Amino acid sequence: MPGCPNSDALSCEYRDRRGHLCTLAFCPHHGAVIKGVSYCRRHASTVRAIGPLATDPNGLPDLDDRTPSLVNWIARELDGHIRAQLEAAAREGESVVIDDAVRLSRDSKRNLRWERSWRLVEHTGLVLRISIQVSEENDALVRINVGSEMVADGIPPWIARRRMGEDVDVAIDVAQRQLFYQYLRESIAKAVAEFRRSDRRYAR
Ligand SMILES: [Zn+2]
Ligand SMILES: [Zn+2]
Repeated sequence: MPGCPNSDALSCEYRDRRGHLCTLAFCPHHGAVIKGVSYCRRHASTVRAIGPLATDPNGLPDLDDRTPSLVNWIARELDGHIRAQLEAAAREGESVVIDDAVRLSRDSKRNLRWERSWRLVEHTGLVLRISIQVSEENDALVRINVGSEMVADGIPPWIARRRMGEDVDVAIDVAQRQLFYQYLRESIAKAVAEFRRSDRRYAR
């Protein structure tokens, strides 16, 4: 890291699914050690995002793939809201099940997609699933699905700005992030309420 005075450097041991090794080195303060393996900051974030998948060499994202970290980041921001929505919507016998990590799947066009999901389940199976997804087709576009419907999508403001090479002050950054998350939260709440209204099994 520029300006770091430490000389006890470790190498990042991240190796992606194609066998490419990260070439970064960093001191203990600027990297992270997870389960005895040392990583640079970016790859520590990737490994934390994909959780249990990190032990499967074929599941490790490409060296420069920030998508799992992005999905995890958005998921952490929305987790409390989504849990609360599902818990409030739960009927007797239903419970909320939450993924502990970002998972890899494919969309209908066979594109790789990283996603994290929250589910409302009952003993006979799935009632409603909410997921946050980013596809390799457009790795900046965050999509929110409630059931089979895409209810919101957007490029996070900090990524849009990075792409445009824009710089804004902290107050504007905070305001833009809040607006973005507010849009996602409201879209989810509306879709969950709509799902319950149209849930014919319970219509009286
Ligand atoms: Zn350092
Ligand atoms: Zn690395």
